Amino acid sequence: MPDFFTEGATGDLATLSPEDSHHALRVLRLRPGDHIRVSVQGQRYEARLEAKGNLAAARLLKPLGSSEARTRITLYQGWPKGDKLDLVVRQAVELGVFAIVPCVFSRCVSRPEPGKRMDRLNKIAREAAMQSGRTIIPRVEAPIGYEKLKGRLARHEQALLAYELAGGQSLRAAYRGALDLGLVIGPEGGFTPQEVEGLPAQAVSLGPRILRTQTAGIAAIAMLLALNDDFQ
Ligand code: SAH
Repeated sequence: MPDFFTEGATGDLATLSPEDSHHALRVLRLRPGDHIRVSVQGQRYEARLEAKGNLAAARLLKPLGSSEARTRITLYQGWPKGDKLDLVVRQAVELGVFAIVPCVFSRCVSRPEPGKRMDRLNKIAREAAMQSGRTIIPRVEAPIGYEKLKGRLARHEQALLAYELAGGQSLRAAYRGALDLGLVIGPEGGFTPQEVEGLPAQAVSLGPRILRTQTAGIAAIAMLLALNDDFQ
């Protein structure tokens, strides 16, 4: 059953945006009467598709359980080269990440340029959330630097930093079952020892093999959700 997001409903009728209407009626070729799932302000419903001209709407039939993980993971991802962040956003959203915050570290090979990139990343997050049947659309926030990151990490119930030189400390041993978690992943060049030292996050190993930056966050999210039985 296809999934959609809508901003709000009037009574039991939620209107789809022109773009989503096009997707439903022209791309997926759904017909009035077809059953779909819609998420309205954090609540999912089974619904029946209706159409008026080019616009589609969802007649809400019955509320559904949430598809969200109990563990709210905010991924602080070192800003990578090229379009690698596109893939990280897409896959992290599919897995169940809560939010993504790109971060600039001293060994970042490329630096974010203000502009259209954040719009594109949020569009990718929305598409991935729709495709994977998420209840919420995870936000991709504007990039932050080291000092801001320090403040953000201190506000999480637990913060972990993936560090290939973390010695014996494994993710499994460090994770205390926190439901609000910050997870920091370095860029291609990794972290400087000073960055690891100065951030209020526990350094953990993701295993004996070095993962690329675009793999590490995805692997760590899957591990954390598995440790907390969030794939049930
Ligand atoms: N330090 C290396 C590799 C960086 S890998 C270099 O200088 O080239 C990019 C990021 O992925 C790291 O900063 C870390 O956050 C994460 N990472 C990759 N493999 C890891 C592992 N085995 N354990 C913990 N973190 C890892």
